Amino acid sequence: MTRLWNFSAGPAALPEAVLRQAQEEMLDWHGAGCSVMEMSHRGNEFTAIIEQAEADLRELMGIPEQYKVLFLQGGATQQFAQIPMNLLAGRSADYIVTGSWSKKAFKEAQRVGTVRCAATTESSHFTRLPVAEEIKLDPFAAYLHVCTNETIHGVEIPAERIADTGVPLVADMSSHILSRPVPVEKFGLIYAGAQKNIGPSGLTLVIVHRDLLGMAPLSIPTVMDFAVMAENGSMLNTPPTYAIYIAGLVFKWLKAQGGLAGMAAVNDEKARLLYQTIDNSGGFYTNPVDPDCRSAMNVPFTLANPELDAAFLADAKAAGLLSLKGHKSVGGMRASIYNAVSLAAVQALTDFMNDFAKRNG
Ligand SMILES: *Cc1c(COP(=O)(O)O)cnc(C)c1O
Repeated sequence: MTRLWNFSAGPAALPEAVLRQAQEEMLDWHGAGCSVMEMSHRGNEFTAIIEQAEADLRELMGIPEQYKVLFLQGGATQQFAQIPMNLLAGRSADYIVTGSWSKKAFKEAQRVGTVRCAATTESSHFTRLPVAEEIKLDPFAAYLHVCTNETIHGVEIPAERIADTGVPLVADMSSHILSRPVPVEKFGLIYAGAQKNIGPSGLTLVIVHRDLLGMAPLSIPTVMDFAVMAENGSMLNTPPTYAIYIAGLVFKWLKAQGGLAGMAAVNDEKARLLYQTIDNSGGFYTNPVDPDCRSAMNVPFTLANPELDAAFLADAKAAGLLSLKGHKSVGGMRASIYNAVSLAAVQALTDFMNDFAKRNG
């Protein structure tokens, strides 16, 4: 068995220690006599698993008591609809569009109700953040939606750029949640699909301030109502039990790495190394994003000569480096360097990139 260096954008690498523990516990979880996959979500064993997962997540992120943590299904894409269903309450909401994902969120919300684009950087090919003068906020908006890390375009909003605008801030953090400390109290709602930086696909985390619960009209389906889900401890119906269990193991692993501050230190080092390799390649590789908002998790880059793309990917695969092909909408390459991607993996990648450039430059 060989595990290669995995730069997949999602579903993405998981910590090997977590997979090994899951393997060990696969057939018989802690003497329960069955797998986590095979036990009732309402039994004592699974209740302990989900409660521990929530407690560890709260500790890791410093989630204040007045926020509910929901373990949902449907992916971040379902949240593009579920959030306006729950929070619009007949009003309008603002969206800042900084890449493909926030653009999708904005488009989907238009199917639900009234939303405005408060700023977009599409004319700059989503390579920067909007400056203050470009952002036209509605002071009466039900909420302001942002995507704090654009997975495809590699644009990340640094925490210190998150300003209080007077309306609840809603953030899609799918691809960088848990990568560094985040001031949860600045947000009304944080959501993330699990398969980038949390665990397996099928689980979606929603962290929501309790003041935002209970605004949904009665016309929305029960299963879509955040307040109902919160009242039922995310168990109105069967939750994605195995994904929650694995996420819980990831949370324990993160705590053992020094928590989110510990992860941030490693993630900064990984990102520094990769961007430095790109910037010092004499134009062989290029990342188009403004240095002040380059993502530490998703690093898109192009080769000056796109005719070398296929050789780059083939040679990378032969060197044990997986999933470096860029998203089709931006082309080129993308290395996703989530929490479970080690500094050694990024070193292997940058060694390969330097060597490839030397051989083909
Ligand atoms: C992957 C991703 C999504 C979509 O997630 P699904 O779980 O596939 O619906 C949405 N937003 C961001 C930022 C993402 O990275």
